[in-house]
Amino acid sequence: MLIDCYECKAKVSESAASCPHCGAIPLDPVRSLPVEVSDLDMKFRTMIWFLIKVSFAAVPAVIVVYTAWTIIGGVLSPLLHM
Ligand SMILES: [Zn+2]
Repeated sequence: MLIDCYECKAKVSESAASCPHCGAIPLDPVRSLPVEVSDLDMKFRTMIWFLIKVSFAAVPAVIVVYTAWTIIGGVLSPLLHM
């Protein structure tokens, strides 16, 4: 369905994110805002979940690196002091 652009009065698709003629964003907070908010909210949740997964994955990695470093250091330090 076509609606009149509030800025240039050109016919714009109701589902268009912005007017193709003047670039005006439709002044319809009921229709446009929830999509943006839920999209941002989803990205935020995905980012938080990603950070949680990374931190959980980082713990064993740090332990492995620390253990390996301790073993290597334990093996190498007597050799280095010979
Ligand atoms: Zn327009």
